[in-house]
Amino acid sequence: MRCLSCQKLSFRTFCKECQTSLLKPNITKRVVGTLDVYSFYKYSTIETMLLTKHTSLGYRVFSAISKITFKPFINEFISNDKRKIHIVGIDEKVKNGYSHVAILTNSMKTKYSKVLQASLLSSNNIKYSGKTLQFRLENPRNFTYNGKVNVDVILIDDIITTGTTLQEAKNVLEKSGINVLFALTLADAQE
Ligand SMILES: [Zn+2]
Repeated sequence: MRCLSCQKLSFRTFCKECQTSLLKPNITKRVVGTLDVYSFYKYSTIETMLLTKHTSLGYRVFSAISKITFKPFINEFISNDKRKIHIVGIDEKVKNGYSHVAILTNSMKTKYSKVLQASLLSSNNIKYSGKTLQFRLENPRNFTYNGKVNVDVILIDDIITTGTTLQEAKNVLEKSGINVLFALTLADAQE
């Protein structure tokens, strides 16, 4: 088989070279309103792979990438923080047979962290890609939350662009009595 990143022959999903160089996570922090957002990559670094979420190939790509990002992150986190943590993904709707965000959140399931699957869904299916901040603000996601209340939550999404979606999600969760610790995304689109 071939490396999903560089297409060279590889026995692994990502070849050793890609894992140690290009795909080595470099966590950056961005503050959106009152929410801290951490990201593993810059969007441009892994754009080709992120775009696979619109196809069936995305299942393999997101599964492989979550193992070198979200999974080690949560293992490190729970070893330093003894609270019971809950994981909420943004809008885990199934498209092309899977939900790419659910692949990310499922990789964060541990003895001390519980995934609240598909608990935060938007009732607005307008596409945000390529839209301005004003458009995003005028067309909120209108999230509804149906998960556990009075818990500590880490919010998960694949990409942060303007941050309006994550901020809206945080507000909805807080109204349900949830303590949002921070958000974690695969890629930050701000260069
Ligand atoms: Zn490679």
